[in-house]
Amino acid sequence: MSDLKLRDHLRNEIETLKKAGLYKRERRIESPQGATIQVNGRLVVNFCANNYLGLANHPEIVEAAHEGLRRWGYGLSSVRFICGTQDLHKELETKVARFFGKEDAILYISCFDANGGLFEPLLGEDDAVLSDELNHASIIDGVRLCKAKRFRYKHGDMADLQRQLEEAKGCRFRMIFTDSVFSMDGDVAKLADICELADKYDAIVAIDDCHGTGHLGEHGRGGAELLGVLDRVDIITSTLGKTAGGASGGFTTGRAEMVDWLRNRSRPYLFSNSVPPSLAFAALKALELIDGGKDLRERLGKNTRKMRACLEAAGLTVKAGPTPILPVMLGDAALATRMAERLLEHGIYCIGFSYPVVPQGQARIRLQVSAAHSDEQIEKAIQAFASVGKELGVVK
Ligand SMILES: *Cc1c(COP(=O)(O)O)cnc(C)c1O
Repeated sequence: MSDLKLRDHLRNEIETLKKAGLYKRERRIESPQGATIQVNGRLVVNFCANNYLGLANHPEIVEAAHEGLRRWGYGLSSVRFICGTQDLHKELETKVARFFGKEDAILYISCFDANGGLFEPLLGEDDAVLSDELNHASIIDGVRLCKAKRFRYKHGDMADLQRQLEEAKGCRFRMIFTDSVFSMDGDVAKLADICELADKYDAIVAIDDCHGTGHLGEHGRGGAELLGVLDRVDIITSTLGKTAGGASGGFTTGRAEMVDWLRNRSRPYLFSNSVPPSLAFAALKALELIDGGKDLRERLGKNTRKMRACLEAAGLTVKAGPTPILPVMLGDAALATRMAERLLEHGIYCIGFSYPVVPQGQARIRLQVSAAHSDEQIEKAIQAFASVGKELGVVK
């Protein structure tokens, strides 16, 4: 009976979501991920995957996954500390650490888990965590699990962060934690200023680099490299599920003792299965391609600059920022949804975002440019935006 009551309750909740226009319907894609995908039997150009370098389904990564499967098997049926650690996992951890110039790294099944398992082992009730208000949900959840005092500073507001660092002066450890790239706006945290404040207030700097790793910075070391502070950031969490091949896996990298402690105390690591060998092996290949990916990063930069310039020339408003995330600002939620639908009819796959994912009145279409987009695909998107923009009265 309780079960039926729960069902009725959920029916009501779902109805409420639908009435508010907040119910999430998933479009089905009928092909692998890529610059183009098949949707409803049609090939469309994809502008909403985190596939910045186009490495999702890169043939060398797919081949590496096959080889990993053949050589190391399908799965370990074990957590790491019992019998789930292969040479492969240690090799990948070493490679990740070297990639960022850190001492060691620890793998998780996802970055959601890396963030979920970071704070509680490191910080106790005598400590403070200072978190940007727009940080990713996994950071918010991870912080909730620890006993440290919580300070939430206004997005990118260094004066506010400084005030809160003052307030946290009496704590044993202070950890400033921020997304390096904020995925809805495509802006980058003021990491140089944050590092300055951290020096002044004796704080640890930790970042989540999910939307930076692989494609930002000269060598793809992410947001911290882009801003020239890779050696000043103490802890980096990130994902293998975006630029680095796009399957799954996450990690935390930093000092050896911290990683050692996380292996002993981080609950998503201790109580969840090992990363499958095929993924770990393919991730090694993904990092190798990123290392040699200068051309891809240049191509991504070129595509992004062209897309931004032409959208602006067509009369659209694109939020400023140094990343391949281009938020086309529309304001009205219904308009954003309608525009995305019309663009799909023009063969351009993108998504409208509105409240509560972004602030009220700031509905937008978020485009994610990829190195895999061809000139023709970028031009097709620009033309579609210009024509649908006119049709819907967004541009004159
Ligand atoms: C995508 C993302 C995550 C989650 O990464 P997964 O590996 O998919 O769990 C965490 N933080 C940020 C900022 C992200 O963008």
